[in-house]
Amino acid sequence: MEDKRGYSHISLKPTIRVQTDFDIPSQNDVEPPEFAKVQAEDYKKSKKLSDEYGKDLILVFERNLIYAFDFFYNSKKIFIPELNPVTIFYSNAIMSKKRLDDFKLKLLEESPSLKDMDKNPDLKLFGDFFQLASNCIFNLQGALESFANIIIPPDYSFIDKNGDVINRPSLSHKLFNTIPKIKEKEFKKHCRRGKFVVENIIKMRNNIVHLKPTKEQTNTKFKNPYRRLIKYNFSDAIKMAREYINFYEPNLIEDCNCGKEYFFDIIVSQKNQ
Ligand SMILES: [Zn+2]
Repeated sequence: MEDKRGYSHISLKPTIRVQTDFDIPSQNDVEPPEFAKVQAEDYKKSKKLSDEYGKDLILVFERNLIYAFDFFYNSKKIFIPELNPVTIFYSNAIMSKKRLDDFKLKLLEESPSLKDMDKNPDLKLFGDFFQLASNCIFNLQGALESFANIIIPPDYSFIDKNGDVINRPSLSHKLFNTIPKIKEKEFKKHCRRGKFVVENIIKMRNNIVHLKPTKEQTNTKFKNPYRRLIKYNFSDAIKMAREYINFYEPNLIEDCNCGKEYFFDIIVSQKNQ
């Protein structure tokens, strides 16, 4: 049976959550110091956002603190939990997967063959597939790239095999050289095939972004990258990107257990309705 893990939508996570093993006292139980009260009053009345006070905003739940940001909307301040972009990108990839499989099957079954060459080709067949396929790959790459950028300190000096400084390290270099050094463990040793699959996500994404007509071969331009995309193993890519991320940050990517399925679909309506 196919591994169901990795196909369910996942839980979105805040950037920072602090969990306590005791109930956090409510505001009324604690008397804040005088200067804090003054600052809080000023914050409530002013149009200034928390950054201008040099403060972080934290939403407080019973046993949870979650970092948040404020936003000025209709002359009031609203508070939004700050989500970890790795989980948002990964969630996009997963949510593209369900209809992507359907569109791929439809493309393969309904495209004209030698037997029915006179059938009118429907451009949407490949279009629908390609849109979700590229969403899936771009967002897997986005999850990996934002993950690398969260782990690697901004002033990190990238060095190649010969000890020379690399000014613009590739995402592969960050994932398979830098992060193993920082975290002192190697994904390659944990899962050799996974390294190959993750590297391939980056290659596929670059292929799509840099799609160029292959004029040397024929005039039909994009056929090779398109064929590769139809053959591409999206399930494996989704699974291994998760394996990589969770290897370095256990349980960052977790199935949501709400029992529902969330996925992107195409909604068709009449114009102006
Ligand atoms: Zn859910």
